[in-house]
Amino acid sequence: MSMAVSGLGPYDPQNVFAKILRGEIPCRKIYENEHALAFHDIAPKAPVHALIIPKGPYVSFADFSSQASDAEIGGFTRAVGHVAAQLGLEDAGYRLLSNMGAAAGQEVPHFHVHLFGGAALGPMLQ
Ligand code: C5P
Repeated sequence: MSMAVSGLGPYDPQNVFAKILRGEIPCRKIYENEHALAFHDIAPKAPVHALIIPKGPYVSFADFSSQASDAEIGGFTRAVGHVAAQLGLEDAGYRLLSNMGAAAGQEVPHFHVHLFGGAALGPMLQ
């Protein structure tokens, strides 16, 4: 069961990423494994802007890291690395970012990691 953390409340199965996971709304899929889905951000903030999400119902990194199984954490982490390689970013480099909670401006209450690349990135993106 999801904890109420970071001002976001318990997990809402009607959030937009839950709908993407159920196939109720489309996404530009990059990669998928048993535990994770990666797709292009609908409003990219860099030439390459991907999102990687676990398939389980976790609001935040705190939820994911404390409640997900080792298999889920492994599958998700490997998905992040796989996406970076699939997008050809390993040599040039890239940035991973995850907003957690209201203070960080997390908009979608389903844990996700942003992957930015394809350009020389400034010191901070958001
Ligand atoms: O970290 P945060 O919650 O603010 O980021 C949510 C991200 O989800 C935004 O970058 C937004 O563009 C993206 N998004 C998306 N597809 C949607 C809704 C939001 O890629 N249908």
